Amino acid sequence: MRDLAAGVQRFQRDVFPAKAELFADLANRHTPDTLFIGCSDARVVPELITQREPGELFVIRTAGNLVPAHTPYADGIAASIEYAVAVLGVTDIVVCGHSACGAMTALAERQDLTGAPAVADWLRHADAALARTPDSATGGERVAALVRDNVLAQLAHLATHPSVARALSRGALTLHGWVYDIATGAVEDVTAVTAASAVTAA
Ligand SMILES: [Zn+2]
Repeated sequence: MRDLAAGVQRFQRDVFPAKAELFADLANRHTPDTLFIGCSDARVVPELITQREPGELFVIRTAGNLVPAHTPYADGIAASIEYAVAVLGVTDIVVCGHSACGAMTALAERQDLTGAPAVADWLRHADAALARTPDSATGGERVAALVRDNVLAQLAHLATHPSVARALSRGALTLHGWVYDIATGAVEDVTAVTAASAVTAA
């Protein structure tokens, strides 16, 4: 906790003054253009990876970057998606998976999660991804395949939310699926149809 307090002091002393104009502007304006849905994993930092300034990304982070499909019973994730799309009018949504994801590893390796029942229940939102990951894949290859399949499955879930479906039908919204590699910093666009799918090469 002492590290956090020192960090706040450093922010106020060194960072805030350098961006004072930006923060003054943002005090009365919230106009992000992108909803970024990433994993809660501490190593996956949306603003760092995309080099976005405060105010530019609307962020939802969940374990395994899972997006429950629409149900009649709204939850915090559904509300945040609806707010970003219908109220803030974001034009792009990124679902970003990542290498060495603990959630995807637990599923790929069929780990015993009886000691973490909430996690086990939550990971059911990856059932479709798990179902299409080939059983022939093993070890790290299986985790990597599941990470990619999971991003695609969560994009499909995302499209079931009425606000997203409406914006997609108007051509006002684009969905992107990314996989971030922690060791190399590479970002792969898994929704791209061409072989040259590194985001930086697009
Ligand atoms: Zn993760």
